[in-house]
Amino acid sequence: MAETAEQLSAQLVELVRQYDPEADLNRIREAFTFADNAHRGQMRESGEPYIVHPLKTALNLAEMKLTPNMIIAGLLHDVPEDTRVTLDEIKAKFGDDVARLVAGITKVGTIKYRGVERYIENLRKMFLTMAEDVRVVIIKFADRLHNLETLGAKPAKKQYRIALESLEIYSPIANRLGMGEIKGRLEDAAFPYVLPKEFEWTRNIQQTALLKQKDYLEGVMRETRELLKRAGLEFVDVHGRVKHLYSLYRKLLKHDRNIAGIHDIMAIRVIVENIADCYAALGIIHGHWTPLKGRIKDYIAQPKPNGYRSLHTTVFCDDGEVVEFQIRTREMHLAAEFGIAAHWSYDEQKPAEKRGAGQPKIDWVAQLADIQREIADKQQYFKSLEEIKIDIFKDRIFVFTPKGDVIDLPEDATPVDFAYLIHTDIGNKCTGVRLNDDIASLDRTLKSGDVVEIIIDKSRKGPNPDWLKFVKTRHARSKIRQYARTSLSNWISSVIPKKLLKK
Ligand code: MN
Repeated sequence: MAETAEQLSAQLVELVRQYDPEADLNRIREAFTFADNAHRGQMRESGEPYIVHPLKTALNLAEMKLTPNMIIAGLLHDVPEDTRVTLDEIKAKFGDDVARLVAGITKVGTIKYRGVERYIENLRKMFLTMAEDVRVVIIKFADRLHNLETLGAKPAKKQYRIALESLEIYSPIANRLGMGEIKGRLEDAAFPYVLPKEFEWTRNIQQTALLKQKDYLEGVMRETRELLKRAGLEFVDVHGRVKHLYSLYRKLLKHDRNIAGIHDIMAIRVIVENIADCYAALGIIHGHWTPLKGRIKDYIAQPKPNGYRSLHTTVFCDDGEVVEFQIRTREMHLAAEFGIAAHWSYDEQKPAEKRGAGQPKIDWVAQLADIQREIADKQQYFKSLEEIKIDIFKDRIFVFTPKGDVIDLPEDATPVDFAYLIHTDIGNKCTGVRLNDDIASLDRTLKSGDVVEIIIDKSRKGPNPDWLKFVKTRHARSKIRQYARTSLSNWISSVIPKKLLKK
């Protein structure tokens, strides 16, 4: 039997009370009553009262320990669009900030177009909204998540469209915002509707593996706790984590559908108090079990481009079984699960007034907003969309400058892409590249970990238009084209008498 609205609302208030003792719980109760009255008589396709949906949205937000205003906006998010109650009434009762959030969610949710147009408009709105207030997109994720998890009640055609849109738009954005848990849940909820056969296939593989490994890994976890205790290292938690289905599917595709090379269907997570303890725990684990060569990844010293930090290692346990460990602090764990949302998450170490103060700066979001401004024309925006998608969403690699700075680029990027990312001048004047100390050609595909040194020729006039044939980033491409344009206009103004140009 599903929970009633009253039960869910009590659950919500209790959850917020647990993580934020300073929250004004009455305001949250009032928001529930307000939304409940506004949606009175409305039903969802599943036959449930409508209010269950905003409540579940708010619960998704509370799981990320978000601020009372975000929870309230989650409760009210469908009110202006689907009921007679207006935004002004919300503003009068719950204040400017909540009203602004609700207005943002309403705006990003209304998309009139169909087909490809719809896709573009959707993406454009998400980007614009993000540049204005990331909180709106986070609430939108919580809303979409519940819609996906109740997709069964919709007609088949709608199921497919909503699920596909989630995989193509929502999950890549969640990924780039570092929101691992939301990304995983969005993808897993959409997966069976978009690729039903592949879903079944992956789920069988996962179930078989879990059946085989679960007890064994429970034993390894017990042993790990013992080892850490014996070494006098205080840990917060040792637990198992099962890889999300869709991400397992993607990994299987990368391994030619062969499960043999995949060791992290279930992994063991060790959560400790501080960074020093992360390395200490790694040492203790390696002292007991032999690590696999080349499988130790230090994402603390070199975080992933989306900010992910942890130590990963794969070891041979007893009987030669291979097990992956992920070691991190509590703070890293929160950031890995919630990403950007952690900026607004309750944390007793953060003073109340600091919590969620201002918008966190995200370079690529600012960059996207610039592109929006640059490309006012819709057709042109459409054309550049593929490039934007590659710049922002393609899997990232990280390479090093000779000084050891980490630069992140989309997969398959070339030295020219790297050069333009460092500086337009470096791009325009580059003539060659030294890759890990060896001379290489400018169209070579870079790999994670490469040390890239660009050779420049100061007297070089500008980029070679042929580079357009192999560069991968929109940034490099637009700089090369831009140079071609300005040099053309320079040339025109040099050959045409000034007097003529003025007229
Ligand atoms: Mn909704």
